[in-house]
Amino acid sequence: MDELLPSPGRRSYAPSPDIVKEVPRFRLPGLPRVRPHFPHFLERRNPADPAIFLTLALSVSAAVALGSLYAPAYQVSVDGVALGLVSSRQAVEDAILRVEERASEILGYEYTLVHDMGYDYTLALKEDQIPVSRVETYLFDQIGEVMKTSVLTVNGQMIGAVDDGESLDAMLESIQAPYINENTISSRFVQDLTVTREYTPTTALREIGEMEAILTSNSLEQVDYSVKAGDTFSGIANRHGMTVDQLRELNPDIDINELWVDQTLTISQAVPFLSVETTDRVTYDGAVPFPVEEVLDDTVYQGYTKVRVPGVEGWATYNADVTYVNGVEQERIINSTDVHTEPVTQVVAVGTKPRPKTMATGKFIWPIYGRVTSGYGSRYIFGSYSFHSGIDIAGSYGASIVASDGGKVTFAGTGTGGYWSYGNYVVIDHENGLQTIYAHCSSLCVKAGERVYQGQVIARVGSTGRSTGNHCHFQVKQNGTTVSPWNYLP
Ligand SMILES: [Zn+2]
Repeated sequence: MDELLPSPGRRSYAPSPDIVKEVPRFRLPGLPRVRPHFPHFLERRNPADPAIFLTLALSVSAAVALGSLYAPAYQVSVDGVALGLVSSRQAVEDAILRVEERASEILGYEYTLVHDMGYDYTLALKEDQIPVSRVETYLFDQIGEVMKTSVLTVNGQMIGAVDDGESLDAMLESIQAPYINENTISSRFVQDLTVTREYTPTTALREIGEMEAILTSNSLEQVDYSVKAGDTFSGIANRHGMTVDQLRELNPDIDINELWVDQTLTISQAVPFLSVETTDRVTYDGAVPFPVEEVLDDTVYQGYTKVRVPGVEGWATYNADVTYVNGVEQERIINSTDVHTEPVTQVVAVGTKPRPKTMATGKFIWPIYGRVTSGYGSRYIFGSYSFHSGIDIAGSYGASIVASDGGKVTFAGTGTGGYWSYGNYVVIDHENGLQTIYAHCSSLCVKAGERVYQGQVIARVGSTGRSTGNHCHFQVKQNGTTVSPWNYLP
């Protein structure tokens, strides 16, 4: 009987007993209906019953005879969608079981297909029938959720899913690889990365290369920049790959001609999507910093210090764990130190002697009080744009100009050469890195080499040199470079 039953995976046009049973035209009059699989039992229980045997034999032979041209078939439909003709309903039912079994295996739980299956009996040409495997494939394709993938998440943001978890691991390793050497004891991503095996919709699937492109991309982010001595607006823009206009756009409230040290600017900087943190365990020889001992000294002015015994660094072999982010050192933890040469302690005298009046206080006062008629930086004057190196403070002719801080007069006279436009002017070195200039004076009250105290009258307001009226041009230099007076004036 086995060859009459549909067997999965094998196409057979021989009619099966259940087909016979459902075809009234194939049933001989007066003979009992044959139930599906009934022949098994009949055969086993009543092998010698001639009537039933005859029924079977006639039915089968009739079917086989007609089957030479037309074969009994079922028009299979899934949820109303007609898929085609198949020879056996049982073969389709078996296919459904196989699909459910396979889906359950992938999903890890009992999966049941919930389609509305239709089987319409008909007679059809053999060549019009489709293989059952096509129905099986169709049914499996209907299961959207069975795609098991490796899902990558960065800081809670799903980057994508790939079906090959091993190639994902390899790709992540390749991103870390450039930062790893033979001393590396640990490496990780700074961001929170997770890879989970999940069932995802097929739309979440990405190519490995596509994922890598996202993970290795840089994003432009706005970060703070602290202005350093000597910085210019265009220089800062240049060094960070920006135009002056772009930098100005990020800092609309900042006067680009009046930068001061430690001022905070907003700049844009390329920030990598993923950062790799590595820790290397290294052994190296290096200097041992010297300790510093401070002693009070009444021969040194208050606020000043003097090195009495210079320190000398020692020498040692270190073992340290050095942590980097994207190759830039972040932290260095010394595990052990083997000192070969001890350092020599530095002794520093801390001044207690009262300071003379002519010593700089470190805080400026205004040289004269008046309206500022011209600011620091670019300005349009005498028919062209020029850089104004100081501020102009209006004053009446002969009014007193005072030293804005204590110091030593290094120039008091009339400008010559490049300084002709200053007329009569005074330069004071405050001996703390700052110098001040007072220009266009009608007369001078000090001489070069003289020490002056803060507030001492040093000159009188005038309009000498390149000047359009009585005023004091007040200029500040830091180690010889002109800087904005606004950084120092109260
Ligand atoms: Zn001026």
